[in-house]
Amino acid sequence: MSLTQRIISAMLMGLLLGGLLNIISSSNILPIAIQSWLDMYLVNGLFDTIGQIFVRSLKLLVVPLVFVSLVCGVSSLGNNSRMGAVASKTIALYVATTAIAITLAISVAVVVQPGVGIDLANATQFVAKDAPSLKTTIINIFPSNPVQSMANGSILQVIVFSVLMGLAISKSGEKGQRISDFFNNFNEVIMKMVMILMQLAPYGIFCLLAKLFADVGIGMILNLAKYFFTMVFVLLLHSLGVYTFIFKFFTGLSIRAFLSKMRPALALAFSTASSGATMPVTLRTVEKRLGVHNTVASFTVPLGTTINMDGTAIMQGVATVFIAQAYNIGLGIDDYLMVVLTATLASIGTAAVPGVGLVMLVMVLNQVGLPVEGIGLIIGVDRLLDMTRTATNVTGDAMVTAVVANSEGFLDRDVFNDPEAGVVQNV
Ligand code: ASP
Repeated sequence: MSLTQRIISAMLMGLLLGGLLNIISSSNILPIAIQSWLDMYLVNGLFDTIGQIFVRSLKLLVVPLVFVSLVCGVSSLGNNSRMGAVASKTIALYVATTAIAITLAISVAVVVQPGVGIDLANATQFVAKDAPSLKTTIINIFPSNPVQSMANGSILQVIVFSVLMGLAISKSGEKGQRISDFFNNFNEVIMKMVMILMQLAPYGIFCLLAKLFADVGIGMILNLAKYFFTMVFVLLLHSLGVYTFIFKFFTGLSIRAFLSKMRPALALAFSTASSGATMPVTLRTVEKRLGVHNTVASFTVPLGTTINMDGTAIMQGVATVFIAQAYNIGLGIDDYLMVVLTATLASIGTAAVPGVGLVMLVMVLNQVGLPVEGIGLIIGVDRLLDMTRTATNVTGDAMVTAVVANSEGFLDRDVFNDPEAGVVQNV
């Protein structure tokens, strides 16, 4: 079986086994001793341990990968720098797709009305954390100590430092060239580590999903079915409609090939619910499978992971309308515009880890004066939706990367069109 097939089978098996374990435990058919053995040693023991180790191993690659790969990318641009053009196109596309995403989300939610008739008594307690101010967010992009930035995993700060270092290397002549060669070799080694981890992905994914579905069960979707499916519908509409259109329009390449090559990365995004943890695989996929040159990908993918969250923006749009309807509070067009603006900024400020979108939703709700406790209504299904929106976030990063690379002549069409290019081999 190919890696993609193994990953997809692992997802299905994890889902089924987890769902089954959940049904068994909630129906009390097993003797208590066996049930608690299953909970303790299988679900919270074996599955949880392997799943967590797998996610940690992915995260472990993020900082070294961003640093080394971005230094390589920027230093290889040399003096005739296209960095400015790449950066401005990328940021413009990231912001524009996010604004489209949230507008789409609000429009669909206003029509479908997922929040009408919701019983407010179902709300769970939700304690809001304060979102940082815009000023702090901007200042925090710039590192004061690169080692600390790396230790804290502050990706934007690592990006700033790596770009600076790459630029300096490209301007340092022969000495710079030697350093650049070192980084290029180092980059190959880290990519090999990504490949080794991808071979373990089916086991990691299986354990993550089995544990998750054993805990949450699928039944809870039914309570909030309208909200849940509205969200999934908008996520699909954005991923398959808006992205397909932009991708086809700007590159003329096959969207089917794009999506099929992205499958392992999307499966990871879904199972880990973190575009951050998925980033090493996203980067490898866009470079080796889609044919985007490292010069562009090493910048756009880490940046996208941090600032481009269309799925998260969609969640904020649908959730805001849902909460307004549940509390029977009317929102005007100016409120919706405010939601678009705040959600776009919030998705830029959302760290790429599970569940943060929910915290940023507080900012959006406060902005339009909706009760923050409303989040308690949707928290139950949020973990499942988080998985789906993370897949959208990752698709968006890869799509924009391919479009920008294509427009700057950094996309190798032969690699893109070759179904075998960059397939994970046995290490
Ligand atoms: N889990 C999302 C991501 O990492 C962020 C969120 O929406 O909570 O992309």
